[in-house]
Amino acid sequence: MPTQPYDYGVCDVCRTPMHEQTIKQDFWVRGELIVIDNVPAGVCPQCGAKVVQAEVGRHIAALLGNAERIATAPRMAVPVVRLEYAPRTIIPAEAR
Ligand SMILES: [Zn+2]
Repeated sequence: MPTQPYDYGVCDVCRTPMHEQTIKQDFWVRGELIVIDNVPAGVCPQCGAKVVQAEVGRHIAALLGNAERIATAPRMAVPVVRLEYAPRTIIPAEAR
C-alpha cells in the first residue's frame, strides 16, 4: 500500500512550502556529537529550516537514549577548526 506523502506545510520562518527530504541531523548529547542519518524531514528550500513529524521526533529521542546503538555505531572523523578572532576595539564616536 503506497503511503501518502506527509504535508509539512509552509516554513515557520519564511512561509515557503517545505519539501520532504531524507537528511542527516546532528545532535550534541552529553558532550558527544551524534549524527543520525536517514531522517525524513521537511526542509525549506528558501532558508534551510527543518522540521520533523512528531513520530519521527520520538524515534530520534529513543535512538539518542539508546547507549548500546550509539556505542556500536560506525564512527566518522570531523574537522575541528579553532576560530582565531580578535574583536577590534570599538572607539565610541564621541571619544574620537
Ligand atoms: Zn524558510
